Amino acid sequence: MDIVAIVGRPNVGKSTLFNRLIGERQSIVDNQSGVTRDRQYGQSEWNGKEFAVVDTGGFVRNSDDVFEAAIRDQVVIAIEEAAVIIFMVDVTTGITDLDEEITQMLRRAEKPVLLAVNKVDNNRRQLEANEFWSLGFEETFFLSSVTGSGTGELLDATVEYV
Ligand code: GDP
Ligand code: MG
Repeated sequence: MDIVAIVGRPNVGKSTLFNRLIGERQSIVDNQSGVTRDRQYGQSEWNGKEFAVVDTGGFVRNSDDVFEAAIRDQVVIAIEEAAVIIFMVDVTTGITDLDEEITQMLRRAEKPVLLAVNKVDNNRRQLEANEFWSLGFEETFFLSSVTGSGTGELLDATVEYV
C-alpha cells in the first residue's frame, strides 16, 4: 500500500491531521527505539483509494541539535518510502528557518510534495497564509486540521499520487 508521510516541525498540527485521517481506525504504534519509535502508521481511505499514512514526531528534545537532526531524519525517510509527502507548516508562526531547511531537502527529492499551511481557521489567517507561496510549492493548500476546513482539497490532491 502506498505511503503518505506527514512531515514538519513540532506543533504545526501533524498529529491532528493524522488522527482526522485515520478516524476510528487504530494507528499501528511501533514500539521500537530511535527513529522507528518516532513514527506512527495508520490506514486511511479517500475517494475510494486506500493508503497508509505516517505521522512523524514525538521526538525527545535533548538539545536543539539532536532535535533538528531527528526532524531531518524523518524527512529523509519520508523521501525514501513515501509515494507523496505532506509538508505541514503553521500560519501562526509564519515561515521559520527550519521550514526553509526542510523545503530545501524536499526540493532535491524527486517526490511529489504538497505544502499544507495549517491553522488557517479564519479569513484573517487566510490573508497571512499567502506568505507561504514564497516557499515555491506549486501545490499549496490552506487548511484547519481542527475544523476540517480545506482538508478535503488536500486529500483530493494527495490521492492523485496513490
Ligand atoms: P504536531 O506536533 O505537529 O503533531 O502538532 P499537534 O497535532 O500535536 O498540534 C499541536 C497543537 O496545535 C495542538 O494544540 C492542536 O490542537 C493545535 N492545532 C492543530 N491543528 C490546528 C488548527 O488547524 N488550528 C488551530 N487553531 N490549532 C490547531
Ligand atoms: Mg505530533
